[in-house]
This record gives sequence, structure tokens and C-alpha cells, in this order.
Amino acid sequence: MTIRFDNQVAIVTGAGNGLGKSHALELARLGARVVVNDFGGARDGSGGSSEAAEQVVAQIQAAGGEAIANGADVSNPEQVDAMVKQAMETWGRVDVLINNAGILRDKSFAKMTQDDWDKVVAVHLTGSQICSHAVWPIMREQGYGRIVMTTSTSGLYGNFGQANYGAAKMAVAGLMNTLCIEGEKYDIKVNCIAPTAATRMTEDLMPAPVLAMLEPKEITPAVLFLASQQAPTHRIVLAGAGCYAMVRLMESEGV
Ligand code: ADP
Repeated sequence: MTIRFDNQVAIVTGAGNGLGKSHALELARLGARVVVNDFGGARDGSGGSSEAAEQVVAQIQAAGGEAIANGADVSNPEQVDAMVKQAMETWGRVDVLINNAGILRDKSFAKMTQDDWDKVVAVHLTGSQICSHAVWPIMREQGYGRIVMTTSTSGLYGNFGQANYGAAKMAVAGLMNTLCIEGEKYDIKVNCIAPTAATRMTEDLMPAPVLAMLEPKEITPAVLFLASQQAPTHRIVLAGAGCYAMVRLMESEGV
């Protein structure tokens, strides 16, 4: 792919594992300076350490790239403000935000506790809002910004046991729609991706042979296209197989 991120600064949330890690590594390889954010902890959002983020930073630096680790919880506005301040003090701008951090608390609606609902909404929806809000004035001032939200087919179509996750992911797409309108004047483009990939989040949701074909690196080019200068005008939701189809087409057309 010819997309490059030279002289750009990118923040990737939840980048210690899975998709976010893949996006961060590829952004760095394509020239970006990257804030690798990860709160760490278990798949349900408990615990927390920036160790995974630090390992990804070490990998980027070993390959000659520039990155800093950050352990902010995306659902905590003070911690997110500090993360953005860290990026500004280190590199002076923020061009790309990839809202990728996520947790799961799957349960049938009858068994879902208020805490299961609140935590999932806090990370996926409010976390995407908090991070976008923190970089928004910087992107407006720059007259340039790219935000990629992570939504889900679970939100578009529903999924057993994912009332919390599906509702939060659908609302993320709703947030995108208004940010597109308000960002247009400042060349801030906002898009969504609904990926399907083998990560810690999906490890027990699909059979191993299916997961073996769905590596995060297969999704990353579609996400980075949405994060690039060539990003479409706005309001794109790329879902499931659409991500793969897009990457194949981009490769065949030399984008
Ligand atoms: P996927 O790659 O499918 O999103 P993963 O579980 O592999 O699934 O990655 C999600 C990442 O998001 C994990 O590394 C997890 O630690 C991180 N994460 C979860 N909650 C938060 C949070 N509140 N703030 C920052 N990162 C988080």
C-alpha cells in the first residue's frame, strides 16, 4: 500500500493486544509516531497495567520506529487528557485517533447486571467519546484529523448475549454521524469499522479453524485507509467481509 503517515502522530487505544496492536505496529512502520495506549487487565475490564503497551512500544522501537506507551483507562477523562497532553508535549500534534479499546461482559439480557451494562458502555461508547473529545480541539486547530471508531455487526444486527456491547457499538456509529458533520469544516474525517478478527475478545466465540483465517493484520489496512489522508469523506461503516473485500480491491488497484 502507498499510504504513509510520515510526520503524523497517531493515538491507538487498546493497542497492547489484538487489533489495536496490529494497527499501532503498522502505523509506525508507515512513518507515524504512535501513542500505544492500553489499560491492560482481563477481557472483562478488571485489573490493569500498561505492560502490554510497553511491549508493543519496545517492538516498534526495535524496528526503528517512534512510540510511547500509555496506560490510560479510556473511560476516565482525566487519564485521557493526560494521555493527549503526553502526545502534545512529546510531538506537538495529533493527526489520527483509533478508538479500539474494548471489553466484553456477554450475558443474556435477563442475567446481565447493571454493572455489566455500565462497564461495557463506559469503555466502548463513553471511552470513544472521551478520547475523541480530548483530541477534537487539537484537530480543529490543525485543520486536520482522522478518527476511526470501532463498531460491530453485533450492534448493526444484534447478537445473543451482547445487549450491552451491541447497543454501545451502535451508539458509536451514531456518535460518528454527528462528528462527521461538525468536523467537516476542519478536515476532520470520522469513519467506523466493524471488524471480525481473531483476538482475545473473539477467542471463544468462533471455531479455531475460522479464527485461524482472521488475523488482525488482515483488517489493519482497511483501518489505516480510513485513518489516512485518502480517507473517504465520512460516514463509512465497513463491516465483516467488507473489510477483507476492500483490502483485496485496494491491493489489486495499487492504492
Ligand atoms: P480486540 O483486538 O478484538 O479489540 P483485545 O481484547 O485483543 O480485543 O484488545 C482490546 C484491548 O483493549 C485489550 O488490550 C485491553 O487491555 C484494552 N482495553 C480494555 N479496556 C480498556 C480501557 N478502559 N482503556 C484502555 N484500554 C482498554
